[in-house]
Amino acid sequence: MASKCGTYAGWNQHRHRGDKPCGECTSAQADYVREWRIRNGHTKSVNVPVEVLREALESLNAWAVLYEHLGADMVDAIKHAPVARREAA
Ligand SMILES: [Zn+2]
Repeated sequence: MASKCGTYAGWNQHRHRGDKPCGECTSAQADYVREWRIRNGHTKSVNVPVEVLREALESLNAWAVLYEHLGADMVDAIKHAPVARREAA
């Protein structure tokens, strides 16, 4: 058990000790990588359930709805992702 279980730091702690990361740390590491990929422009789209997308589009604050569904780190990664150039049609 790492002292920071459930975080990316905890995942690193497991790895440096040579033990298998626990489920919480594996999940935190997957979230970290997913958010890193968005922030750095490697992931171009994310899946959002239709009902969440509808609620966001109909609300006055779509970010608040997405924040509730995706979490603060994911919304922050999306907000800071590089703007992709659109291909001419
Ligand atoms: Zn752990």
